[in-house]
Amino acid sequence: MRVGIGHDTHRLRPGGPLRLGGIDVPHDRESIGHSDGDALLHAVIDALLGAAALGDVGQMFPDTEAVNRGRDSAEMLAAANEAVAALGWEIVNIDCIVFLQRPKLLTHRLRIRQRMADILGIDVERVGLQAKTGEGIGTIGAEKAVAAQCVALLGMSDDV
Ligand code: MG
Repeated sequence: MRVGIGHDTHRLRPGGPLRLGGIDVPHDRESIGHSDGDALLHAVIDALLGAAALGDVGQMFPDTEAVNRGRDSAEMLAAANEAVAALGWEIVNIDCIVFLQRPKLLTHRLRIRQRMADILGIDVERVGLQAKTGEGIGTIGAEKAVAAQCVALLGMSDDV
């Protein structure tokens, strides 16, 4: 077994929709990033790569490379998952926290979990998603940023 952790933060600006967990959440703010700015998927990528000691998202998908500009993070996550699987690892489960003042993610939670499960090729029961506001303080509370954390547990294929 191996465990990995990932974290990501992206600045927000007026606009929308908000790209999160591989879906477009209707919102009046959008994420700023070199890729599509999906903080949640970037945290998942880092958790998977971290568990397999394969580096991090910035190493695998450098923001100095034009191919990564505006890139769909779902594609990046699928590639990271393939690299991890190539070493014999399978995902036991992932659990994620999104830090976002607005909107409430409750109504989007199942769709995001299902989307992440589909990208990873695992059952939705293996994908946990929690959501926290910034309690109105700090950069999250001021709606200047969205952040996400993820832990991933990997097992060798025979044991999962
Ligand atoms: Mg990022």
